[in-house]
Amino acid sequence: MRPRTYLLLTVLVINALVAALLGVSLVQSRAQYEASADKTSQNLALVLESAISGTLTTSNAVLASTAHEYLRQLTAPRFDLRALNRHIEAEFTQLSFNDSLRIAKADGSVAYGTGVDAETNISIRDRDYFIRLRDHPETSTIISQPVRGRLSGQWIVVLARRVSLPDGTFAGVVFTPITLERFSALFSSISIGARGVVTLRDAELGLVVSQPLASSAEIGSKRLSQTFLDLAKTGVSVGTYDAITVIDGVQRKFSFRKFENEPFYVFVGLAKDEYLAPWRSQVLELSGLMAIFSLSTFALSWLVYRANRQLLRQQAQLRQMAFIDGLTQVANRRRFDEMLPLEWRACRRDGVPLTLLMIDVDHFKQINDRYGHHAGDECLRAVATTIKACLGRSHDLVARYGGEEFVCLLPDCDAKGAFAKAEELRLAVQALAITHEASATTPVVTISIGAAITTPVDDNHADALLELADAQLYRAKSSGRNRTCLSEDPAPQPARTP
Ligand code: GH3
Ligand code: MG
Ligand code: MG
Repeated sequence: MRPRTYLLLTVLVINALVAALLGVSLVQSRAQYEASADKTSQNLALVLESAISGTLTTSNAVLASTAHEYLRQLTAPRFDLRALNRHIEAEFTQLSFNDSLRIAKADGSVAYGTGVDAETNISIRDRDYFIRLRDHPETSTIISQPVRGRLSGQWIVVLARRVSLPDGTFAGVVFTPITLERFSALFSSISIGARGVVTLRDAELGLVVSQPLASSAEIGSKRLSQTFLDLAKTGVSVGTYDAITVIDGVQRKFSFRKFENEPFYVFVGLAKDEYLAPWRSQVLELSGLMAIFSLSTFALSWLVYRANRQLLRQQAQLRQMAFIDGLTQVANRRRFDEMLPLEWRACRRDGVPLTLLMIDVDHFKQINDRYGHHAGDECLRAVATTIKACLGRSHDLVARYGGEEFVCLLPDCDAKGAFAKAEELRLAVQALAITHEASATTPVVTISIGAAITTPVDDNHADALLELADAQLYRAKSSGRNRTCLSEDPAPQPARTP
């Protein structure tokens, strides 16, 4: 795998792991917010049930006591109106939630109670609760459907109780109305968020009152989500469910309670948007952090990759420089020393001959003396470039061996090829026609070449080839220069083992 792919994969895996961890923690955190909303809505429903139940229980006791006093006055030798009114006033002080406490006679006329005087001329004869109590002696306290109050004109529910004479004759109704606004004031006193809802419904699930306050047209409405209806079918009296409210399309978590003793249900709905708002900002925060983490890791890995690539490039350059001769730009002595045993072994493996050419510029000292060192350097560069240009095979190597001496390593090159290549080099240098008037040989720069060829049979005799070439160079120098001398004698090696 390429380092870049490896680095990229590593960063991707790290990012995926961190993202997975964040994802898991967000899922867990959301579940906690949901559980906490479950608890909150259930607790609020419980609190509301007990507050309303408490009021209704007190109201019921007050109605019973007032009915009793009314009956006592009816059956007393003398009806003591003042005593009755005193009793009603005393009882009414217990009713912080209710608007009045009154008595209607058997004909339905409201005759006694708070806010009632001689001029009051109101009848509740046609009210549903009055008719039910009158016609059904067995009925105890009942709670009416929401109705508009005759005196106040406000929406009310009425708690009413029948008064019967000892012989069972209907003697009237004691009743106390509660305006629906009182309920909605109670509902708005609890914290349910800006889009939370609280609903009180009667035993048939008709809407009694809600917060925010429902319009008159909605009172009595039995529109409820299918989720609740399905849940109600199972017979549970307490529960929590998620639903979208039809009226405003808001998704909410509802907890409901069916009152234990009164014909009511209370529903508390918390808007999902609101109770999940802190979780949503957590998601945003963590997503932002994740994005910063991703960008940083990718940017960092890119920088590491670039720095590494630069380092590798510099290393390659340094390696290159370590093996190149600064003056002539061909391989240096170190490179040659490294390559000679390698090529020797490669030729031994392949069973092919290896040729070594030792090249020396003729009368070079005089070039320096006559034309200066700069000219000498230029001459060395020209000779090196020419030799290099003549070597065609990829494995052929020319190196500066030292001073004005060069070596060529030609793998898989036999004696015939070696001589031909040496002569090609020699003639190519001569053809450069670099003036050398001080030369005792020719008036141009020439080279002498000693060539040695052998087919290696063991690994450790490369140096012998060098000595052999050197000896041939010496031969070329002493026999007149500007020539190639070739040794076809094999380099001294141990005999090849069969
Ligand atoms: P021969 O024909 O016998 O080889 O004679 P020669 O003068 O070439 O032999 P010798 O080895 O005595 O001289 C080599 C000279 O090369 C000696 C030195 O001054 C010169 N030389 C060695 N390295 C460099 C170099 O890098 N630049 C220059 N300009 N001269 C160099
Ligand atoms: Mg020399
Ligand atoms: Mg020389």
